[in-house]
Amino acid sequence: MRKFDFLVVGSGLFGATFSYIMNQRGYSTLIVEKRDHIGGNIYTEKRDGINIHRYGAHIFHTSSDKAWDFIREFAVFSPFINSPIANYKGEIYNLPFNMNTFSKMWGILRPEEAKRIIEEQRKEVTPPIDNLEKQAISLVGRDIYEKLIKGYTEKQWGRDLKSLPPEIIKRLPVRFTYDNNYFNDTYQGIPLGGYTKIIEKMIEKSSLELSTDYIENKSELDKMADRVLYTGELDRLFGYSLGRLEFRSVRFEDEKYETDNYQGVAVMNYTDRETPYTRSIEHRHFEKTDSKVTWVSREYSVDYSFTGEPYYPINDEKNNSLQERYVELAKNDKRLILGGRLATYKYYDMDKTILESIKTADSLS
Ligand SMILES: Cc1cc2nc3c(=O)[nH]c(=O)nc-3n(C[C@H](O)[C@H](O)[C@H](O)COP(=O)(O)OP(=O)(O)OC[C@H]3O[C@@H](n4cnc5c(N)ncnc54)[C@H](O)[C@@H]3O)c2cc1C
Repeated sequence: MRKFDFLVVGSGLFGATFSYIMNQRGYSTLIVEKRDHIGGNIYTEKRDGINIHRYGAHIFHTSSDKAWDFIREFAVFSPFINSPIANYKGEIYNLPFNMNTFSKMWGILRPEEAKRIIEEQRKEVTPPIDNLEKQAISLVGRDIYEKLIKGYTEKQWGRDLKSLPPEIIKRLPVRFTYDNNYFNDTYQGIPLGGYTKIIEKMIEKSSLELSTDYIENKSELDKMADRVLYTGELDRLFGYSLGRLEFRSVRFEDEKYETDNYQGVAVMNYTDRETPYTRSIEHRHFEKTDSKVTWVSREYSVDYSFTGEPYYPINDEKNNSLQERYVELAKNDKRLILGGRLATYKYYDMDKTILESIKTADSLS
């Protein structure tokens, strides 16, 4: 039986970056992936000539030269500025909250007027700020809260905002310029040809077993490498022995339309409570295509138990301390290395995932 230097559990961006670096440095890696495809949640697949972001819209954005230089070793990026649109019962607003949004909402023109209205509306909140509704109104005022935050955030969490803690939203970026660029980062783009190709190139020199669950084959797989990088959920690794970590999940409904432009924008957020989904993504707007049709994915925010797919960690005190206890357990296994959004129970954008993975590889070689 061949023995590898590293067994990498998970072929997402963290595992793939780690494998690439280790292969470059002369170490061998075996990647096992429980899904039938590589790439984790950044996986893209081609349908009718369009790259579909199967696990949600992914826009690469970063202010780190290191992450930007690294990812461009594997793809050419086309410039893309994320400028999502909010749809509140058919009323259209620009995001993030900026002068275009305020002008549409209040019929005003100048930043000073917008500041005055927001300042005035914030005053309705009296201390203590003990729930998410109060927190949001104290940051941006009643009108923006009612039309652009309330319904969307309630759908995301599946709960009334009065019953959620204020800490969930610490800041709400408000811009007093006519600037619809969602991200403030220096670099932003979409890889031509999709993200899956990036992962393919990263893991070229690695061995790969798809549709192979590490947990189900642990004893045989452990024998195949000196060390194990695990990028799955920690509670599952330890048989949920200390309890279950909670996640929020999403599910997608995809629809094909016989048109070359269905909604006029890549990402539309539905901010009213009545529309059951949170966002609709029209994939063809991410990357130029000659396709005569279009694919739209509607994103529903759902309970973890509904899909069994962990998406967003619920980083409250209870879950964070449970995660810490699992991390303590993991320390008993000296061969085990943890990394990625699932094993660390943290939301990471792609650039952060890359930087963390490089850091992990550097600490071991
Ligand atoms: C809806 C959504 C939208 C996002 N949009 C953006 C964006 O626009 N820009 C941005 O920068 N970031 C975005 N992100 C974040 C991005 O998805 C993550 O940074 C990235 O996917 C993290 O990679 P990872 O390798 O840590 O995790 P994952 O991609 O989840 O990879 C982990 C892999 O491990 C596998 N695995 C788990 N357990 C086992 C096991 N027991 N055996 C075998 N395999 C296993 C899984 O199947 C998975 O393939 C978004 C995230 C979500 C949820």
